[in-house]
Amino acid sequence: MVLRIGIIHNQEEKSIRVLQRLRGLLAMKDDLEIVDRDPQLVITIGGDGTLLSAFHRYSHRLNEVRFLGVHTGHLGFYTDWRDYELPELVNSLSDEQGTSVSYPLLDIVVTSANGQHQHFLALNESTIRKGSRTMVADVYIKEELFERFRGDGLSISTPTGSTAYNKSVGGAVVHPSINAMQLAEIASLNNRVFRTLGSPSIIGSHEWIDVQLKSSGEHLITIDQLDINSKEVVSIKYKIADERIHFASYRHMHFWHRVKDAFIRED
Ligand code: NAD
Repeated sequence: MVLRIGIIHNQEEKSIRVLQRLRGLLAMKDDLEIVDRDPQLVITIGGDGTLLSAFHRYSHRLNEVRFLGVHTGHLGFYTDWRDYELPELVNSLSDEQGTSVSYPLLDIVVTSANGQHQHFLALNESTIRKGSRTMVADVYIKEELFERFRGDGLSISTPTGSTAYNKSVGGAVVHPSINAMQLAEIASLNNRVFRTLGSPSIIGSHEWIDVQLKSSGEHLITIDQLDINSKEVVSIKYKIADERIHFASYRHMHFWHRVKDAFIRED
């Protein structure tokens, strides 16, 4: 059986060098083939942002594709392999049995004033913000109005996205084996008149969040590194997706070791 491999890379000089080396090593293996269309395995070369781009490119065929990241900068959260490990990586691809580890994704439905719905998946998070004006939104959890939010915005993240933007706004780091999403506030207004919960919340996989926008004008809606055309958006609904992202598990790094390596250890 030949394993069909797609490669996605950023334009950094180092990534281009790694790409050339990887192509050479893959060409020496009869059971590994580089393809432009319908890959079974996608190898990214670059950083977490490169893997996020690859995820969005193949988000329509997540059940058929596994991902694997080679990093050419610092150790990433989605990028396990270092450039000097390419021979070991290619050998492990030849020997592997198609095993994978999978993580939860966010399912997002953006509804416009004309009733049109746009559907997205996020690997890290989605944020809703407003430029210089206060964002006002009613936050529903399931059908119940939970709070009226006023402030800079909201972040809704996956467990693997909990170490990204979510962490910067004071959200908790969540182990990716927990099938849940996290709602975190971005600079909420809390005083004698306005009140929000004021702390991040972990929402279960059987629940959903509905954010009904009450502030007028344009809002900034992001999905991972993508900006969504958000004119006339009236609500955004979030739940844990039925789909999951599958990573080729040729090597397994303990999650808390990775967190320590990224945020605590001084090398
Ligand atoms: P990028 O590769 O430049 O990513 C930006 C930084 O976020 C990098 O240091 C990357 O390693 C880190 N990162 C991305 N996903 C991560 C994760 N799951 N856990 C820990 N760190 C992670 O590329 P980009 O295309 O700009 O990436 C978009 C992502 O960057 C967004 O999804 C968002 O989470 C993150 N981001 C964070 C902040 C912030 O922390 N203030 C601001 C903007 C974007």
